[in-house]
Amino acid sequence: MSDLAKLKVWDDPAIRAALPWYLDVAENRRPAKFRIAATVATTLDPAAASEDALWAELDRLTPIFLARQQAIRAGARLPSAAEGPSLLELCRELAYRMLAHCNFCPWDCRVDRQAGAKFGACKLASGSRVSSHFHHTGEELFYRGTQGSGTIFFTSCNMRCAFCQNGDISTDKDNGEETDPRTLATMAWTLRREGCHNINWVGGEVVIHLHAIVDAIALLGRGFVPTSAELKRACRTKADRFFFFDEVPGAAVYDGRFNAPMLWNSNFFMTPESMKILRVLTDVWLPDFKFGPGRCAMTLAKTPWYWETVTRNIALIAEWGEDFSIRHLVMPNHVECCTYPVLEWIAARVPAAPVNVMAQFHPDNFCDPASAKYRDKYAEIARRPTRAELDASWRRAGDLGLRFETTTFERRHAFGMAMLDI
Ligand code: SF4
Repeated sequence: MSDLAKLKVWDDPAIRAALPWYLDVAENRRPAKFRIAATVATTLDPAAASEDALWAELDRLTPIFLARQQAIRAGARLPSAAEGPSLLELCRELAYRMLAHCNFCPWDCRVDRQAGAKFGACKLASGSRVSSHFHHTGEELFYRGTQGSGTIFFTSCNMRCAFCQNGDISTDKDNGEETDPRTLATMAWTLRREGCHNINWVGGEVVIHLHAIVDAIALLGRGFVPTSAELKRACRTKADRFFFFDEVPGAAVYDGRFNAPMLWNSNFFMTPESMKILRVLTDVWLPDFKFGPGRCAMTLAKTPWYWETVTRNIALIAEWGEDFSIRHLVMPNHVECCTYPVLEWIAARVPAAPVNVMAQFHPDNFCDPASAKYRDKYAEIARRPTRAELDASWRRAGDLGLRFETTTFERRHAFGMAMLDI
């Protein structure tokens, strides 16, 4: 048993019940989904097939994949990887086809990002930039564990939150280093071998980089080993490279090959097509559920269709029986219109989900009065939430019976290393 499994956070039955697949993969007791996807063969030639045929093939292969995953959950061994193209290559091809008429997210810009002559709402062509990657020790305890969450931070976003707490990353599309799928795979490969409990794809927003991430995951599923030049290139954005992490023997191996749970850490502003691809690659999901059903997503984040998109996507992963936890950031003056409806929806639709009702909102970006970017129209959120607002939010979560206390208050209760049974 690793240090992650020894954490007392798993004694909370709600957390253990919500994240069993994630924990098994993190512990290398089970193969990650990308390893299973590599065993599901396709008879199509992905590069030659029409996009319609590729989607039909994904629909045909997904139940086969799910049955195989179910058998593996029950103790079956992982079959050998397909010799020819598999579900992995199918997903990779589909992501690149989508990139040519981009519909990764509900902006549905339909621009050809491969051509790069026109840009959509995210302002990106086909290139992806990484701001940093490192052992993240600030995520929820079940993700950061004792060795950190292997976080890869992408630049740019498809939303425009005025208060963004990562504004330097999300609003500056030129932040960080241009990267490619092999370099991304190198980052994931390195972080996991250094003991990280998962690979945490995050931004900005990640779905706008779907093609590069799926490509990197497909490489990891096909025996990827980086060259020394790729290791050097990836190291340029490794924020903790001066800590010289040692390789942890066995940390990244299931049945002799690379293994790591893929954590999709996202604003969940994604299309059903993106979700369908991610279903067979994502081991655990971390939706950030910010706004209520009113106009707040428009006034604070210039994002239409927010509520219907995010609730649809969270309901979908619940219906699929996926492992996930939810984050909600309490915003000043938005408890009634955002926090309460978000918590009520969770209680009504996904009551078993662990929820982090977060208190760390601070005025940042366009709502920070100390910043040159400050705009008066955001004065209502230009402060931290009050104690009364936070208490009211947590009280409502408690009244609704949400599973939020372990996740939300773990630091206050001095969990962490002190929770180790060692
Ligand atoms: S990722 Fe979203 S915002 Fe960016 S081009 Fe595609 S559809 Fe538009």
